[in-house]
Order: sequence, then C-alpha cells, then structure tokens
Amino acid sequence: MTVPHAGSCLCGAVAFEVEGAFARFYLCHCSHCRKGTGSAHASNLFAPVATLRWVRGEEEVRVFRLPDTRHARSFCSACGSALPTPLGTSGGVMVPAGALDTPVTKRPDAHIFTDSRADWDEALERVPKQPSWPSKTT
Ligand SMILES: [Zn+2]
Ligand SMILES: [Zn+2]
Repeated sequence: MTVPHAGSCLCGAVAFEVEGAFARFYLCHCSHCRKGTGSAHASNLFAPVATLRWVRGEEEVRVFRLPDTRHARSFCSACGSALPTPLGTSGGVMVPAGALDTPVTKRPDAHIFTDSRADWDEALERVPKQPSWPSKTT
C-alpha cells in the first residue's frame, strides 16, 4: 500500500509529493546534520520504497553531498529549506519531517548518533516553554 505525502519549502517555490510508507523516523544528532540544519538534530523520515515527484520548482532544488561520506542533503536554492533526498540508487527517499504539509503520524523511532550531540542538548524537555515569542522580561 502506498501512502501519499506532500510538502513544500518555506518560500513556496518548491513543492513535492512522496508515495511510499515511512519505515523509519530518526532524529540524527551527527555533526553533519547539526551543521546542515543549524540545530540540535535533523528529523528525517525514511521510505525504502518510494516515488518522489516534484510538483513545482524542481529547478530550484540543490543537492549537497559531503565528499567521502554518505551524507547528502537537498535544499531550496532560494530559501535553504530542507527537501527530500533520494537514497542513492536504492529507490528510497529521505524526507525531512519539517518539510511535510501533510500530517506526520509516525512517532520517531530513535535519536541516533547521540555520541555527537550538541553540548547544550541535555534535558531539553526541562527548558521553560513559551507558547509563542517570549516577553521582553524573559
Ligand atoms: Zn524555497
Ligand atoms: Zn546525521
């Protein structure tokens, strides 16, 4: 059974559809993903058998492959948003969860490469929570 998923970049230039079931959902803390996202970890869904279709803006999509590694990351050349990346020639697709506009019903399977996690990435669930931008006194 194929499951349709749809997403887009922040500026809207690029939109895509992915047909295929997500088998794995990993939060990757490796140094490449931290640098590439500018955050504590990447949040990537993996569909081992999937069809990726660019609905619009394919000409804006760039793929960065880090030499001598398996690390690859697609992004919009206009706004830099993370976009789906084909997994080599296997027919699979890696989809950044934040790029999806359709609901993500799968829960993450694991934090991975936690040996490489950021110095400040510790007990983040205990950091104060603000429903929106914090007030000036915070
Ligand atoms: Zn964009
Ligand atoms: Zn990683």
